[in-house]
Amino acid sequence: MTDPQVFQRVCQEARARAVSVGFVPTMGALHQGHGALITAARAHCDWTVVSVFLNPLQFSQQEDFDRYPLAFTEDLGQCRSLGVDCVFAPSAESLYPHGFQTFVEVRELSQPLEGAHRPGHFRGVSTIVAKLLCLVGPCHLWVGRKDYQQWKVIERLAKDLHLPVDVHAHPVVRDASGLALSSRNARLSTEEYARALSLVRGLREAGAAYGQGERRVSSLIALAADPLAANSINIDYVGVFDPENMTALSGTAPERALLALAAHVGDTRLIDNMVLGEDPVP
Ligand code: AMP
Repeated sequence: MTDPQVFQRVCQEARARAVSVGFVPTMGALHQGHGALITAARAHCDWTVVSVFLNPLQFSQQEDFDRYPLAFTEDLGQCRSLGVDCVFAPSAESLYPHGFQTFVEVRELSQPLEGAHRPGHFRGVSTIVAKLLCLVGPCHLWVGRKDYQQWKVIERLAKDLHLPVDVHAHPVVRDASGLALSSRNARLSTEEYARALSLVRGLREAGAAYGQGERRVSSLIALAADPLAANSINIDYVGVFDPENMTALSGTAPERALLALAAHVGDTRLIDNMVLGEDPVP
């Protein structure tokens, strides 16, 4: 389904049949991380919709919009085999027609971490999520904790705009070696894949040390960053943050703290995180 108005009507009709609606927004090139969200949505709701839309608004000119993996035919097949009831795949022109000029901004939460390295990114994310939720209507929304800050931004957005949506966040889904699944992983060469594993190695080192009582933020950051540096990986950030308001922490880590990192392996930008004191060491 591609037409926003038709999609909106179909969602309204589904709700009129008194079914609960589950919604999983994606940018396509679906993998088992998306699959886990879809499966969770299906288990919880009567009618599940997936959107596949590579949102140009959340990419800056320097970023990889033009190189982002596309696999629409495979995506449709995956949605079908997972029992998705409706796939919404609009064009950019239909969502951002000539004259479009309304944007949604979640302020403080959007500024650190990803926001500091991807100016305008969360404005693009918040705008598309708000738009999609206006089309879907009251629903259960599934997002992934791999994009931890994005989850918090969407939660805030839903709260601040009184959107009739329950936000559910699924844990990070990893491959057998521990690398967080990402559509961008498809672009890694064999050699880059091996180097990319240092992201999860960093989380493991810091997570294990935290489990043994290490609370110095500087030490935790060094433990997470060392494997990246050892593999000549270009770090955007490695930090320890308040898991609710996203402010950077220093000194002593609290009983629950977000360890998050972003790095470039070759041309591919990857992110990962764990909540120290809550998530199992990956
Ligand atoms: P994307 O297509 O990358 O925009 O992702 C769509 C949704 O899937 C977002 O809510 C992501 O956080 C989630 N997601 C992507 N990869 C993973 C993963 N490895 N584990 C859990 N959720 C994921």
